[in-house]
Amino acid sequence: MQNPLLNADEKDPVADEHLRPSSIQEFIGQKKVINNLSVFIQAAKKRAEALDHVIISGPPGLGKTTLAYIISREMGVQIRPTTGPVLEKPGDLAGLLTNLEKGDVLFIDEIHRLNPVVEEYLYSAMEDYKLDIVIDSGPNARSVQIDLNEFTLVGATTRKGLLTAPLRARFGIDMRLDYYDSELLQRIALRTAHILGFGITETGAYEIARRSRGTPRIVNKLLRRTRDFAQVDGLDTIDDKIADKALNALDVDRNGLDDMDVRILRAIIENYKGGPVGLGTLSVAVGEDKGTIEEVYEPFLIKEGFMQRTPKGRVVTMKSYDYLNVKPENKGAGKDTPGLF
Ligand code: ADP
Repeated sequence: MQNPLLNADEKDPVADEHLRPSSIQEFIGQKKVINNLSVFIQAAKKRAEALDHVIISGPPGLGKTTLAYIISREMGVQIRPTTGPVLEKPGDLAGLLTNLEKGDVLFIDEIHRLNPVVEEYLYSAMEDYKLDIVIDSGPNARSVQIDLNEFTLVGATTRKGLLTAPLRARFGIDMRLDYYDSELLQRIALRTAHILGFGITETGAYEIARRSRGTPRIVNKLLRRTRDFAQVDGLDTIDDKIADKALNALDVDRNGLDDMDVRILRAIIENYKGGPVGLGTLSVAVGEDKGTIEEVYEPFLIKEGFMQRTPKGRVVTMKSYDYLNVKPENKGAGKDTPGLF
C-alpha cells in the first residue's frame, strides 16, 4: 500500500501556496539551475524582452510550480496558470493567450498531457506570437491570424520523455530539477517550521529531511504531521526523538522509500537475482509504466545508492540487500553490486 504521506504527487494546494518561496534568494538548492535562470532573467530584463520559453522537468514535488511563480515575480509580470489536460480544445488555449499582456507568463503544468491538436496551435504562438484560428467549418471555414503579445511559456513536466520533438525544440531554456540531498531538505524543514511558528532542532529537522524521499513537498507534509505529535505530547519544539516517534507511527520508511521504490528493488532481487534486468521487463514485473520508472523512481534510487544502471540493465547494490534484509544469492560477497556477478 502506498503511504499517502510519501506520495509527492498528491498536491496540497493550501500548504503549497503558503510555504512557497517567493524569490530566487529564498529558493533552496538546485544551485546550478538557479544561477543560470538568474542570468537569463537579468538579461531579458536588460533587453526589455519577454524571457525565452522555459521547460522545467523533474519528479513531483521538487519545486517546478514554485519556480514558474518565481520567474513571473522576478520578471515583474503576471502569471496565468493552467494544466495540460484542462486545455481540451484550441479555443481554450486561444482564450488564455489573447488575454496575456506583454511579457506575461503562461504556466502549463503537466504539459506532456496536452491534447495534440491544442499543442499544434502552440507552435506558432511560441515561435512568432501569432495564433492561426480556423473559424466555421465546411465550405465556410476560413483561417484568421491573431497577433499576440510577447509572452513566456513556462511548461512543467514529470515526464519530459513524452514531449514531442517539435514542442521540445521551441523551449529556449531547459531546466531539470533533481532530488535534494538531506542537508538541503533539512534547511527546507527549518524554514517551513519557522513559517509555521513552531520550534524545531537541527537534528529534528534532519530526521524528517532524511526520510522525505529527496522531496520538499514531502518534507512539508511530514513536518506538519510531526508537529501534531509534538503538540499532543505537550512539546513546543520538534526534536529528533519526537520526529522519530511520529514518523514510525506514521509508517514512514527509515530511508524515505515509498511503496513503488521497494517493489522495484524487491522485483530485481527476487525475480532477477539482483539484475541486470531490462527496463521493459522490470516495468511489467512491478506494473508501472517504463517512462515513470525511468524518470521518477530510478533517479532517486540511483542517487541514494540502491541501484545502478549498467549497459546490460538495472542492478541493485548491497545497500538494497541490507535494506530489505535479504542475503545475495550469487556470492559476490563484499562487492557493491552483487547483481553484476
Ligand atoms: P512541483 O510543481 O515540482 O510538483 P511545487 O513547486 O508545487 O512542486 O513544490 C511543492 C512544495 O515544496 C511547495 O509548497 C514549496 O513550499 C516546497 N518547495 C519546493 N521547492 C522548494 C525549495 N527549493 N525550497 C523551499 N521549498 C520548496
